[in-house]
Amino acid sequence: MTSDSARLDRRRFLAEIDADPDFDILIVGGGVAGAATLRELSAQGLRCLLVERADFASGASGALTRVAQGGFRYLETGEIRLVRRSATERNLFVAAAPHQTRPLRVVLPSETWLGGAAIALLRALGLAAGHSLPGALVLRAAVALYDALGRSGRVLPLGGLFTRAELGRRYPGISPRFRAAAYEYEALIASPERVAIELIEDAVAEGVGSIALNYAEIRPTAGGFVVSDGVSGAAVRVDAGVVVNAAGANVDRVAKLFGVETRLVDGVAGTHLLLRAPDVAAALGDDLLFFEGDNSDPRQRRLCCVYAIGAAVLLGATEIPVAVPDASRPTAAEDAYLLAALRRLFPAGAFGAEDIVGRLHGVRPLVAADDGDLTGRSRDHAVHVHAATDGRMLISIAGGKWTTFHAIAADAADAALTALGRARRASTGRRPIGGGRDFPRDAAGRQRAADDLARRFGVDDALAERLIATYGSRAGRVAAYLVGPEARTSIAGDAVTVGEVRFFACEEMATTAADVAQRRTRLFIEGAATREALDAIDRALAELRRAPQTARSESAEAPLEDVEHAAV
Ligand SMILES: Cc1cc2nc3c(=O)[nH]c(=O)nc-3n(C[C@H](O)[C@H](O)[C@H](O)COP(=O)(O)OP(=O)(O)OC[C@H]3O[C@@H](n4cnc5c(N)ncnc54)[C@H](O)[C@@H]3O)c2cc1C
Repeated sequence: MTSDSARLDRRRFLAEIDADPDFDILIVGGGVAGAATLRELSAQGLRCLLVERADFASGASGALTRVAQGGFRYLETGEIRLVRRSATERNLFVAAAPHQTRPLRVVLPSETWLGGAAIALLRALGLAAGHSLPGALVLRAAVALYDALGRSGRVLPLGGLFTRAELGRRYPGISPRFRAAAYEYEALIASPERVAIELIEDAVAEGVGSIALNYAEIRPTAGGFVVSDGVSGAAVRVDAGVVVNAAGANVDRVAKLFGVETRLVDGVAGTHLLLRAPDVAAALGDDLLFFEGDNSDPRQRRLCCVYAIGAAVLLGATEIPVAVPDASRPTAAEDAYLLAALRRLFPAGAFGAEDIVGRLHGVRPLVAADDGDLTGRSRDHAVHVHAATDGRMLISIAGGKWTTFHAIAADAADAALTALGRARRASTGRRPIGGGRDFPRDAAGRQRAADDLARRFGVDDALAERLIATYGSRAGRVAAYLVGPEARTSIAGDAVTVGEVRFFACEEMATTAADVAQRRTRLFIEGAATREALDAIDRALAELRRAPQTARSESAEAPLEDVEHAAV
């Protein structure tokens, strides 16, 4: 694979559409489900066009807790098959994207050793509602079952139990109400947004002519579709026999666009707070605590989670049904609920509403159902095939988790292959993702890769190590943009350089400062997306428009993109 074959280059893509507007598949939506489906179908030799109306991974796929999880919680509802599949998918993902994941201990503090055993059993059998954590021994037994269900391709450590004394020692300031805690392991995803982009790049690199456009809209028209590119202003006609509807919480709206009335998805909004709370962050260390939020109403019990990012914590998440996903916004009531929940866990923690430094908000596309129990609603996915009004086939994706993106994509691809009468020729489940390809598994190997990068591109050791840690085996492609002192100028401390911003614009279709701060880097999640940093990113994007030829050392081709700028 050459570096150019994987480049997401709007100008080249538009020229390719012009030259050949006929695609096998049109995919609507560039979240993780659309991105993974693009990769899965491109691997079958099908030429696909993905159209995302905003930035890639700017919907639910950029608002998650950022945990690849096997679905420990689904044991509560007795969904054993779903747990086994989710855990297997998690394991596949960790193996495929080692540059994006690290083991995460998930700790479940309990107020009793044995309490709640009966209710937990009833819930697993579907005979009781409400969600709370049972006693530590019940949870420990559940963790043992969970570890057994997730043994296929297991790469994470096994779970265990902490006593009250260990809890107090490990998490200073934790409420003494907790008598013990079971724990299990999941995988923390460094940048789920970057994973989606890497999936798209892998699809483009298949060499079958697949294309993805962000900031573009699709409209059915007589004999095909019109794609309006919001960046260049171009409007191009395309055609495809099959449309995959991966529009997340907007699946039913997009189905309607294609003349099909459906009720496949319930939008359930969720908010996380980024909260400056240095003492809580220090107490949590590298672990995630999963705990009861508000148990005043047993039917509305929800579980919350918190983990540290630097001196801040990510605290979430709420579950609010929404009628119009695009109109959904975080509310003050959610702030209050989450802060009160954390106060139950760390009663003397030094934090308050004034310490909220950011919010992540997104709408989960849950499979539609008529029950009111959102927490207990299955997180499984479903793929629906309908005949659109113009005789084309429409395949809609409902539900699922970020973690199960490959299973979702495989099911959608099977439906598309059947519709086209084509045979499956490959599976992507075990394929490395993006910079996970040939990524060294051990610290010594990563150090060698960093030393090599430093020598080849003349960058200092600390920068080389950060590039390897962030971009994995794709670090060389990024380092090629770090030519000259100006390109190495740091933005937001040492978090990102001007050269990397140029890389995002030229090779990953970043168009605005928000694209860079939220979806190409961890600036936002690390609380480093200050006005000053955003202005510096804007300047780097603007300079690139004026002098595109200075961007990259390896190519004389001008990677000019007609970038637009928007305030975050
Ligand atoms: C608060 C919260 C926490 C979560 N935590 C986790 C977690 O820790 N682990 C986990 O595995 N899962 C988690 N999830 C679930 C996970 O985020 C979602 O299941 C997953 O991201 C859904 O992906 P998607 O691609 O289907 O939808 P989205 O990411 O929403 O993508 C749909 C895309 O379609 C685009 N679109 C819509 N209409 C159109 C149109 N007309 N034309 C073009 N494009 C269109 C949208 O702009 C959007 O980008 C969480 C979700 C939330 C909200």
